[in-house]
Amino acid sequence: MLDIQDLRAEIAGKEILKGLSLRVNAGEVHAIMGPNGAGKSTLGYVLGGRPGYTPTGGSVTFAGADLLEMDPHARAAAGLFLGFQYPVEIPGISNVQFLREALNSQRRARGEAPLSGGEFLKLARAQADALGMDQEMLKRPVNVGFSGGEKKRNEMVQMGILGPKLAILDETDSGLDIDALKAVGEGINRIMRAPDKAVLLITHYQRLLDYVQPDFVHVLDAGRITRTGGPELAHQLEREGYGVAA
Ligand code: ADP
Ligand code: MG
Ligand code: MG
Repeated sequence: MLDIQDLRAEIAGKEILKGLSLRVNAGEVHAIMGPNGAGKSTLGYVLGGRPGYTPTGGSVTFAGADLLEMDPHARAAAGLFLGFQYPVEIPGISNVQFLREALNSQRRARGEAPLSGGEFLKLARAQADALGMDQEMLKRPVNVGFSGGEKKRNEMVQMGILGPKLAILDETDSGLDIDALKAVGEGINRIMRAPDKAVLLITHYQRLLDYVQPDFVHVLDAGRITRTGGPELAHQLEREGYGVAA
């Protein structure tokens, strides 16, 4: 699914990722933990193709293609989904308009027929129901005035509608109360726990991992993966911090 080899990347001339290697197979959930400033978000942005986050070495293969050669739209159409810590607000565009355009542009890029308004609404309503999101929120401008928890649920609705192969979720759990955390965790499991899908879960805390059990836990420190283990590593990090020796 995703094969990152010795990836180096810089922001504004400063090297942030310093030879990061990571392999994610279909069917797996990987958690990435690590101290502030380690480069976790940078990894997400580089994989998403955000301008200013410049790969300078190494390789990334996604579903058999050279990811770093693809523009951000092509990456999304190929099945990459990025969820961010601070979802963007888009005044003047309703959730439904935004999501339908996003889905249909991806479908067109894959050579699939776009969904009609009716087909799309059915899909969107089913996803909102599954996430426990009020259907009225589909009509509201994207994320405008949404609470932290509502934004995260909305992001899960987006993910459910787009149906990605690989979801990279950056601190999806930050600022969530217990109910929202549970809903988001269940959403990730329902949408992404499948033999042909995979998840990269970037998180500071163990608590989301109580809902979404990772197969592997990695520590990202100073731009590299420095440790890898199973779910027990997350518990150990929670107890002991990132400073402990392997
Ligand atoms: P993490 O998500 O692990 O907390 P980040 O990837 O956000 O870490 O940041 C990694 C490093 O890159 C930090 O030292 C941060 O200050 C730096 N950095 C992030 N974004 C920028 C930017 N836009 N310009 C300059 N430096 C940045
Ligand atoms: Mg941070
Ligand atoms: Mg971050």
